Amino acid sequence: MGESPFRLRIAALLRPLEFAARDDFAQLERVRDLDRTVTLAAEQVCALAIPAEAKGIIARVAERFASPPIADPASRVRDALEVLRPIAQPSWAEAQLEASTASLPGLGAKRSELLARRGLRSVGDVLFHLPVRYDDRRSLQRIGDLTVGQRATFVARVLGSAFTARRGRYRGRVFEAMVGDETGTILLKWFRGGDSISRQVKKGAHLLVTGDVKRYRFDKEVAHPEISQLEDAAGGADALQKGLGIVADYSTPEGIHPRAFRRAVSAAVERFADLVPGYLSASGNALDLPEPADALRALHEPASDSDVAALISGEVPARARLVLEELFLLELGLALRRSGTTAEAGIAIPAGRRAAAVAERLPFALTQAQERACREIAVDVARPHPMNRLLEGDVGSGKTVVAFLAAVAVAEHQHQTALMAPTELLAEQHERTLQKLASDAGGQDGLRIARLTASLSSVQSKQVRAALKAGEVDLVIGTQALLQEGVDFRALALAIVDEQHRFGVRQRAALTQKAAGGLAPHTLVMTATPIPRSLALTLHGDLDLSVIDELPPGRSPTETLLFREGEGQRVADLIRATTARGEQAYVVYPLVAESEKLDLRSATESTERIRAAFPQLKIDLVHGQLDAAARHAAMARFAAGDTNLLVSTTVIEVGVDVSNATLMVVEHAERFGLAQLHQLRGRIGRGRKKSTCVLMARGVSEDSEARLRALLQTTDGFEIAEADLRIRGPGEFLGTRQHGRLPDLRIADLVRDVRHVVTAREAALETLRRDPNLRSNPSLARAVRARWGDRLSLASVG
Ligand code: ADP
Ligand code: MG
Repeated sequence: MGESPFRLRIAALLRPLEFAARDDFAQLERVRDLDRTVTLAAEQVCALAIPAEAKGIIARVAERFASPPIADPASRVRDALEVLRPIAQPSWAEAQLEASTASLPGLGAKRSELLARRGLRSVGDVLFHLPVRYDDRRSLQRIGDLTVGQRATFVARVLGSAFTARRGRYRGRVFEAMVGDETGTILLKWFRGGDSISRQVKKGAHLLVTGDVKRYRFDKEVAHPEISQLEDAAGGADALQKGLGIVADYSTPEGIHPRAFRRAVSAAVERFADLVPGYLSASGNALDLPEPADALRALHEPASDSDVAALISGEVPARARLVLEELFLLELGLALRRSGTTAEAGIAIPAGRRAAAVAERLPFALTQAQERACREIAVDVARPHPMNRLLEGDVGSGKTVVAFLAAVAVAEHQHQTALMAPTELLAEQHERTLQKLASDAGGQDGLRIARLTASLSSVQSKQVRAALKAGEVDLVIGTQALLQEGVDFRALALAIVDEQHRFGVRQRAALTQKAAGGLAPHTLVMTATPIPRSLALTLHGDLDLSVIDELPPGRSPTETLLFREGEGQRVADLIRATTARGEQAYVVYPLVAESEKLDLRSATESTERIRAAFPQLKIDLVHGQLDAAARHAAMARFAAGDTNLLVSTTVIEVGVDVSNATLMVVEHAERFGLAQLHQLRGRIGRGRKKSTCVLMARGVSEDSEARLRALLQTTDGFEIAEADLRIRGPGEFLGTRQHGRLPDLRIADLVRDVRHVVTAREAALETLRRDPNLRSNPSLARAVRARWGDRLSLASVG
C-alpha cells in the first residue's frame, strides 16, 4: 500500500543488488545474470514519468552494468546501492512533489507566485489541479460552417491584420486579423497582448485556431483565440497533429495564459506523475480503477479516443480513483482525530437508576428514537473517556428530554452539567422547558436547575455562581459566557451545546479546566439542522452520531401554502378563521442585518395594519431591539394565550414552544434559507391540532421558487436538507452555518461524490482497525498529516 510506480520499479532494481550485497557480498558470485537484471530493471525505471535527475542517476548505474566490471565487482554493486538508496526513500519522492512550480516550463518565479496565491504551490498541487473542461479539437472545421456560440478549431490563412484605432478603453490597442479558408472568412481579435501576437500573425501565415465563435455586429469573430503556427515547413504537420485531439482546459489566474499553464501541467505529468502514490489497495476498494499516476495522465492528457462527454461530466474511472484517494486521506484524518480524543482521560459516569425512574414519571413515553439516543449516551458516559456525540433530530423531535435525562444521570453521581445555547433567548426557553420537565418528573430526584445569563442582576448572578461552585446546582443553563473566567464548577462532567456550536481547541481547553479533576468533560452537541447522514459522517467525522428520526406521536403534519404578492386577503381570512377557533398565530418578518432598521419598520407597519384590520385581536410585536424583560413579557403573554397574534422578526426562531399556535405566516419567505424556514415552521404543529404555514413570497426568482417548493413537498427535515444542499451546493449550504467546517477538497465533492465518501470511510476504518495509529505505514501517516494535519490538529499520528 502506498507505492507509486516509481517506488515499485526502483524496488525491483534494488532487490538483486541488495541480494548480491548480502553477508558482505558472500552471494555475489551466485547471482545469475546480475548485469542483465540490473540493466533491464534500470531501463524500466527510466521509462517512467519521473524527474530527469533520477533518470540520470539510474542511467549511470545501468551503464556500469552494461559491460563486465572493470575491477572489483563488489564495489560496483556498493556504488550502485549508495546512489540508488536515497532516491528509493519515500521521502525523496515526497520532496520532489513538494518542489516549487517555478521549476516547470512556462511558469517561472512571477507566475509561480500568482499560482501560489491560488493555492497551487507545488508541482504536486499542479498535478492535482484538474481541468475544468475539455475542448474537442479532434476534427477541423471549415470557416464557412462555423456557427455562433460554438467552440471550434480550424485552419486558416491570415489575409490581413492591423491595430484598430478604436475609441475608448481599448483605443489603438486592439489587434485584429482577418483570416480565411476556401469557404469563408472570420475576424480574430486581441484586446490584450496584441504586440506579441502581431509578430506571429502576419499576412500569409497559416494558423491553427481554437476559440469561441461570437457574433459581432453582422459578422462572426473569435476573441482571444488560441493559435499555433503551422507554417514552418518541418513542424507544420507536427503542430497540426499536436493541436488536434482532446485538449484540457484549466481555470488559471489572470496573468497566466492557458497554454502556458497547459505546458506546465504537461511537463509536471511527464516528470512527476509516476511518483504519485496510491494508498488504496488495488485488491480492495479501488478495484478496477486506474492507478493515480495513470488517472492523472488520463485526465490531463486524454487519449484521442476518450469519451469527451464522460470526461466533461466527470464520470470516468480516472476521476473516481483520485476522488477515492483524496477522501480516503480525509476519512483517515477524521477517524484519527476522533480516536485521539477518545483516548483522553475522562470522567466515568456509570449507569444508575435515576434517569430511568425519572423517565417513568414524565407525562409521555419516550419515542424509540429517544430511547436509543439515551442508551447511546449512557454507554458513552460510562467510559472513562470523554464522549463526543452529536445528537441530530428535527425540530420538535424531543432532543431536550434526552439532554435532560443525561443531566439526571450525571447528577446522580454528584456531577454537574452545563447547557449552552446560542442566544440568551434560547437559554431562557431552555430553562423554562427544563424546569417544567424537572417538576413533571418531580420528587426528590428533581434536578436543581439554574440559569446564568447577562440579564441576571449582579446579585443574582453572584448567587448562581456561588451555588455552582458549592455544587448546589446540578444543571446550569447559559450562553457561551459560561466558559468565562469566574464561572467555577464543583464537578462539571457534561457539557451540552445546543445548535451547531462546536468547541474549538481553546474552548475545549477552557472546558477541561472547569471539569472535575481537570479531566475533559463529556460533550453532547444538539442540532436541529438535519444534515444528510452521509455528509454528517464526514463533516462531523470526529463525533459519534445519534439520530432522532421519529417525531413524538399524535402530531398532525403542518400544511404549507405558497402565496404570492396580492394574496393578502387569503392571509387575512386564515388569521380570522384561526383566531375564531381560539387558536393563535405568528407573523414572521425577516431580519437581515444590513437593513435591520428597514425590516423593523416593515414589521412595525404591518403590525399596525393588522391591528387596524382586526381591532378585536390582541397583538404583540417582538423584535431584537426590545430589551429582555419586554421580550420576555410578550412571549409569556403569548404562551399564556393572552395574545392572539405575535408579530416578530426571526428572534423567536427557536425560542418559543406554544402548542396552541397553529398558524404561521412568513413574510418575504424568499429571503430565508430553506433550513431556516423549516425551523420556523417547526414552531407550529406542536400539538394535536392541524396547523398551517403560509409562505408569502414577494418578487420570487426561479431559484427561490424552487427552494420554496421543496418545503411544500415535505416536512422531513432530512429531505429538506438534501434539497437545500442540491440547490445551494455544499459550500453555501454549510458555509453559513458551519463556520468553514467544510474541508477544502481538491477534487472530491462531498455531495456529488457521496457514494465515494461511504467507500472511503469504510476503507479508512478498516485500515485503522488493522493499524490503529498507522505505525506500520509511515508514508500513509505522513500523507494524512501533510494533507490534514493542521486542519484536524493531528499531532501524534504515525
Ligand atoms: P426539539 O428540541 O428536538 O426541537 P423538544 O425537546 O423541544 O424538541 O420537544 C418538542 C416538544 O415535544 C416538547 O413540548 C416536548 O415536551 C414534547 N415531547 C418530547 N418528547 C416527547 C414524547 N416522547 N412524546 C410526546 N411529547 C414529547
Ligand atoms: Mg430544542
